[in-house]
Amino acid sequence: MRAIALYARATEGFDGRVAHTLEVLRTAASEHATRIVQATSLGAEDMVITDLIARHRVPIAIATLETGKLHDETVALVPRIEARYGLAVEVFKPVTESVVHFVRTNGERAMYESIDLRKACCGIRKLEPLARMLAGSSAWVTGLRREQSDTRAVVPFSEPDDKGRIKFSPLADWSWADVWHYIQLHDVPFNPLHDQFMPSIGCAPCTRAIAVGEPFRAGRWWWEDEKAKECGLHVKDAPVSMIGASA
Ligand code: SF4
Repeated sequence: MRAIALYARATEGFDGRVAHTLEVLRTAASEHATRIVQATSLGAEDMVITDLIARHRVPIAIATLETGKLHDETVALVPRIEARYGLAVEVFKPVTESVVHFVRTNGERAMYESIDLRKACCGIRKLEPLARMLAGSSAWVTGLRREQSDTRAVVPFSEPDDKGRIKFSPLADWSWADVWHYIQLHDVPFNPLHDQFMPSIGCAPCTRAIAVGEPFRAGRWWWEDEKAKECGLHVKDAPVSMIGASA
């Protein structure tokens, strides 16, 4: 079933939330001119943010992580964004030698063997490239929403990260219905895997479809304890080498 048919719904206050998001983006761009980047996971929320940046010509650069383990449908979104909006998406990949060494030592399925190995894989494939992406930036933009999980329930619109950069989450107060209502209204490109009951999409080995009634992020690292799932990208004081990452 199509995600739009399933989720898109106009709810009270939607226009106000869109206006506020745009205001957050414009203020962020002006306060951090040339030193701000949208770190897009290419998920539905981030596609909404990219659309707002493009539609309103907000001067914020766009970049993403290509971990080497993404679904083809996810990777294909990069040229789709560039064709649709005429914006460049800078792609950051892990260091080849690190990946080869890790896989040779621990195997292709290491992430299922222990939380430490899963986090080490995320460290190599996500956190190290993210550190390169954000080097030289004083701010970044994410698609975090309070509704996504208990650990994100108090996400503010902006907060300092562990490196002193400002992390903006302009969709913090949006619902999943808002996200899809916006996508429908503006015909925003999105990952077709969302149509296959994958609301939260990460690397292929670590993402599965969810069943009716399961929590939003139940399809991410589903074999781990719930508390272990919030990982590196959005955790303060996380040593890059030790902790995993996720959008
Ligand atoms: S999400 Fe899975 S495959 Fe991707 S970097 Fe983390 S452990 Fe590795």
